Amino acid sequence: MKQGIVTLVGAGPGDPELLTVKAVKAIRGASLLLVDDLVADDVIGLASSTARIVHVGKRGGCRSTPQEFILRMMVQASQAGENVVRLKGGDPFIFGRGGEEQEHLSRHGIEVQVVNGITAGLAAASLVGVPLTHRELAQGVVFVTGHTRADGTSVDWPQLAEMAQRAHLTLVIYMGVRNADSLQQALLKGMPGSTPFVAVQDASLPGQKMAAGTLDQLARIMQSQRIASPAVIVLGEVSRATLLAHTAMAQARNAAA
Ligand code: SAH
Repeated sequence: MKQGIVTLVGAGPGDPELLTVKAVKAIRGASLLLVDDLVADDVIGLASSTARIVHVGKRGGCRSTPQEFILRMMVQASQAGENVVRLKGGDPFIFGRGGEEQEHLSRHGIEVQVVNGITAGLAAASLVGVPLTHRELAQGVVFVTGHTRADGTSVDWPQLAEMAQRAHLTLVIYMGVRNADSLQQALLKGMPGSTPFVAVQDASLPGQKMAAGTLDQLARIMQSQRIASPAVIVLGEVSRATLLAHTAMAQARNAAA
């Protein structure tokens, strides 16, 4: 029997129009789809009516499917000749465990393909008018996780903040909602409290929501504006124009009320 392949497909931030043509083709051609949490229903809806769809995320408060189970399923299905698509939110290689899965599959002699998706931080920034780099404001951008790993290894935030400040880098923080308070404290050790940020929740989805402010107010604003996961925080001078526009709009709204 001919062995199938596994394609790790980036489903983008949610809006199906942001999928690549390659992603749409892969989703339509799959006989088995293993779907992560943050993949929008409209994207899953592109699958063939005969495809098997397995949700392996933790929606509904349940524990997520153990990673070993997902790996085993991918190996067995592809060995049985299935065309497996592993569908992940955003891009498979940005905080998506795509690297680990690719290594595992390659060890089992299974052919792996990767189809890029638009990562949440990129989409979120553009959707609220923030250019992640800008000739006068930011010479680069860092995608970083705000989630502390169970083994305690975490980002050195004061050092990262200092470097971002010195080298004019934009920080795009994923998974930072729950730790907003400690992130704020740690970042303030390396950059000024006046550094602007925007936080975008559910980027590209109908419920998209944003909050904006300065670093010294990060946790308070995230809480008062009820920014919940999934959200990204874009921190740096590139966020200032959007912050000012947002503030002006809020003031106009208050004056009219
Ligand atoms: N591979 C994904 C990231 C997975 S980690 C990607 O490339 O986008 C999950 C985190 O991504 C969330 O906690 C949140 O920080 C971010 N995220 C995913 N979808 C999002 C969306 N639609 N809007 C804002 N943030 C999102």
